[in-house]
Amino acid sequence: MLTIWNDFLNLFFPNNCAICNEPLFEGEKQICLKCLVDLPQTKYWLKDNNPVFQLFIGKAYIINATAFLHFEKGGKVQKLVHAFKYRNNRDLAYQMGRLAAKACQANPVYRQIDVLIPVPLHSKRKRERGYNQSEWICRGIAAVWNLPICTNVLLRKKRTVTQTRKTIYDRWLNVQDIFVLKNSQTLKGKHILLIDDVITSGSTLIFCANILLSIPEIKVSILALSVAGKS
Ligand SMILES: [Zn+2]
Repeated sequence: MLTIWNDFLNLFFPNNCAICNEPLFEGEKQICLKCLVDLPQTKYWLKDNNPVFQLFIGKAYIINATAFLHFEKGGKVQKLVHAFKYRNNRDLAYQMGRLAAKACQANPVYRQIDVLIPVPLHSKRKRERGYNQSEWICRGIAAVWNLPICTNVLLRKKRTVTQTRKTIYDRWLNVQDIFVLKNSQTLKGKHILLIDDVITSGSTLIFCANILLSIPEIKVSILALSVAGKS
């Protein structure tokens, strides 16, 4: 009941912390200072061979992969992701992108990045939600690192609907044909950073990375706002 009340308050008073709902002080953006220092950071960006990178070994030939935060069911990060995925708080996604970029720039590999690419949402879902949350995370990162965002090369073709009744092979085919490339020559020779909100198995990112890797001389790295499971 309290949560519903808080959600209701947030509609009218968005200047409350997205995690604890306490009013924000001047200079605090979306998250209060107390919650900010408590965010479950992975620190994976400090280790090249980290648990997120290991998800891609033997599956996609990427340069680097990391996630900024640990995503746990019922935890703080789930609350944040829920707020920008279902409650239309795109500024929160933007601010989280800024935080991730400021932390991850400790790893010099990110200075080699040429362009950011958000994992695309199907246009129908984008229409329903109004925006792609990964694109807004990208915008936050782009603001800190001063990089361009590319949304017209990696595209999603059709929606995966009846996943549950399909065999694993059907699902594999299904995921494979939902991503397509257009104007791919514009990314030739570039180091791409693929951006997602939550990594679970990594399968979507593995497909996206492999499709992008068909472009000549391309390099692909991955940065997700969060990774599910405590690893
Ligand atoms: Zn707070």
